[in-house]
Amino acid sequence: MAKSRLDPQFEFFNTPLRLKRPHRNRFANPFPDWGLPKNFRLAMTPLRLRLTKLDLPQTSQGLAMHLSVVVPIYNEEENLPHLYQGLLNALDPLPHSYELIMVNDGSRDQSAAVLDQLAQADDRVKVVEFRRNFGQTAAMQAGIQAASGDVVITIDADLQNDPADIAMMLDQIEQGYDLVHGWRKKRQDTFINRKLPSKIANWLIAKVTGFPVNDLGCTLKVIRTEIAQELQLYGEMHRFIPILAHWRGARCVEVVTNHRPRLFGQSKYGISRVTRVLLDLMTVKYLIQYVVSPMKLFGSIGLMCAAAAMVSGTATLWMKLGQGVDMTGNPLLLLSAFCGMVAVQFLCLGMLGELCSRIYFQVQKTTPYGVRRTLNLESGREAATVQMKPKREAA
Ligand code: UDP
Ligand code: MG
Repeated sequence: MAKSRLDPQFEFFNTPLRLKRPHRNRFANPFPDWGLPKNFRLAMTPLRLRLTKLDLPQTSQGLAMHLSVVVPIYNEEENLPHLYQGLLNALDPLPHSYELIMVNDGSRDQSAAVLDQLAQADDRVKVVEFRRNFGQTAAMQAGIQAASGDVVITIDADLQNDPADIAMMLDQIEQGYDLVHGWRKKRQDTFINRKLPSKIANWLIAKVTGFPVNDLGCTLKVIRTEIAQELQLYGEMHRFIPILAHWRGARCVEVVTNHRPRLFGQSKYGISRVTRVLLDLMTVKYLIQYVVSPMKLFGSIGLMCAAAAMVSGTATLWMKLGQGVDMTGNPLLLLSAFCGMVAVQFLCLGMLGELCSRIYFQVQKTTPYGVRRTLNLESGREAATVQMKPKREAA
């Protein structure tokens, strides 16, 4: 008799914890941790090996954390009970408390009813239900904003990510990383319309952004909440989370994770995502390189056009005075007028961009920088207020 795909022998939901060797990217950490105590690393300098104490944040000292698992859901009714069980199997043995934030992205099947049942039976299951389908990025953003944990874990609802990998990824957070993202090295999808376009896209993204990455599309990620909540995710930007976080100063590491074939439901994406990813890549390149100072981009194009206008105008004059070539019939005169106008346009665009970026940061109530931590700042402020009080009262 043919084996049922849900046969426990498939070990689909009860995969034993496998500690895998993380693939480290060169941005994140170039140094191996050869069995040293947790907060020590060997740092290799050209001249000598030295032992460095890493500056690890509070949650990395072996303390129990509160985890927020964020799951975007669109028509996954059959997967949800198995996903819930898989998450429980993976999280219960850990010393951390957790909440499961299920974001129903306007599902048209029975997902809402299944989520109701899960939430009634277990109050760690929290549900955000969209009025209609807004897309995976919006679902992830809503879940991240609702998170109350120290760490956000994002995972697909379709069981393609393995919850058993979470323990190993949390280990990396405890080592001091801010974001751990999965690499589906043995991806269980079709080659022509999934794996090949993804390989090309990841190669191109790594080249354009300078962020070495093998797999940006893996939803399984573990991120410190303060960093996840700083990210502004629009369009389909969920794919670029590690790059956006790295731009905000997060320490990122990529680890090899398990990937399984989809058993129930269908993928929501086709080959058409390639163009959307390419367009998003342009936005991300602009964001990470020029959003703080758009004049650097538009102004330099404007200056290049101005230089071209001057060269071609000078050539027109030289041809007229030296060789008697008629200026009105000379195409170089047209070129210099055209380049001059384009230069003015680009310089104005640069100025408008500068204005927009200031408005952007103020309206979003965000800063163009990310603060890892502060020392004595809060207590300093309190101390100042305490000192001020008697003076005010005296006045
Ligand atoms: N998803 C979503 N909204 C959408 C499309 C997808 O919330 O509009 C969810 C989907 O339910 C799944 C995850 O995003 O949990 C990834 O989707 P899918 O498996 O279709 O993507 P693939 O793995 O094929 O890239
Ligand atoms: Mg999937």
